[in-house]
Amino acid sequence: MKILVLNSGSSSLKYQVIDMSNEKTVAEGICERIGTADSEMTYKAHGNKTKVEHGMPTHKEAIDLVLKTLQGENGVIKSIEEIDAVGHRVLHGAETFKDSVLITEEVLAKLEENVPLGPLHMPANIMGIKNCMELMPGKPNVAVFDTAFHQTLPNYAYMYPLPYQDYEELRVRKYGFHGTSHKYVSQRATEILGTKESKVIICHLGNGSSISAVKNGECIDTSMGLTPLEGLMMGTRCGNIDPAAVLYVMEKRNMSINEMDTYMNKKSGILGIYEKNSDFRNVRDDYLNGDERATLTFNMLTYRIKQYIGSYAATLGGVDAICFTGGIGENSGVTREKICEGLEFLGVEIDKEFNSRIETERLDGELLISKGKVKVYRINTNEELVIAEDTYRITKN
Ligand code: AMP
Repeated sequence: MKILVLNSGSSSLKYQVIDMSNEKTVAEGICERIGTADSEMTYKAHGNKTKVEHGMPTHKEAIDLVLKTLQGENGVIKSIEEIDAVGHRVLHGAETFKDSVLITEEVLAKLEENVPLGPLHMPANIMGIKNCMELMPGKPNVAVFDTAFHQTLPNYAYMYPLPYQDYEELRVRKYGFHGTSHKYVSQRATEILGTKESKVIICHLGNGSSISAVKNGECIDTSMGLTPLEGLMMGTRCGNIDPAAVLYVMEKRNMSINEMDTYMNKKSGILGIYEKNSDFRNVRDDYLNGDERATLTFNMLTYRIKQYIGSYAATLGGVDAICFTGGIGENSGVTREKICEGLEFLGVEIDKEFNSRIETERLDGELLISKGKVKVYRINTNEELVIAEDTYRITKN
């Protein structure tokens, strides 16, 4: 059984074909700058990576190009019939969807209702689904939500202390995101620990970052909120700040709601403090060379993650394992070390030598990097596999 996994963004389309007989990715790539004159697609299969420069005025042409390439010279299928189902990454399930779902007209209508909760991503996600329904009639499509894994949060964790009517009328509450990553990594952690009866903290640290507390396999708190802006300091997002600072800056800088939204989502975080760019590899290098601003950025970022770990250890009533994933979490030993520094009181003791060797020797896989009571793991996330597994589970009958 082969599953096509699609992630439709506003001007991009990421795709993978996963063979469920061995859970291996057989083809993958990305269509970028869709709708512009220099749109292009990368395609990787059979160990070869190629670039296809092709006009892709809309996502429909992009999906069509993906399907043709999958059947082409370096293809992985002979006909579309070999694709059994399509799994779509969808940003917002709100409270409507607590699990992945087979797409029907009724489901599509419900997804439309969630557009106001994710105005940047939801239209592109829905467009990707509709395009597949048109290009591959009769093929089952499944929506896999970034929010679903966090639907187990208790109400006292997901409610904001705003007037209750905002929850009832506007659906304002914490939803959490990166759910497929938190699900995958927490499942791997419980498998490695050999028991589901566990208290695990997952740190997904990348351009977007979030952290979650998972007890006995269920998420009980997470750092992102109504939108992905809440929580940790990220590449270009500010994360938690005093809400009154938003009003103050808007007033003093004479900014509109849209301008402030861009300011907090695209101009803050690592970029806002470091100022050169939002690439954490540069921050890390400059920090190691003693650059003052890079040091401030590095210290702010790691301090805030450490605070969340302490907070979630209290939420969980202890911690058995801490897992690092995402571009920064998987690759930056010095960041993992700094975050864990000072957490010895919890039983966290990093194996510093091995932790730093992972980066220098480019060690791969799921690795234990601690010596203390609390297990600390570096685990590569695999969001596409979760999407493919859910799609398989929901469509196999
Ligand atoms: P992601 O969004 O998960 O792809 O992660 C992207 C982020 O990971 C970027 O900020 C990269 O600079 C960062 N990153 C990747 N490799 C490293 C590394 N070896 N050290 C520090 N940051 C890294």
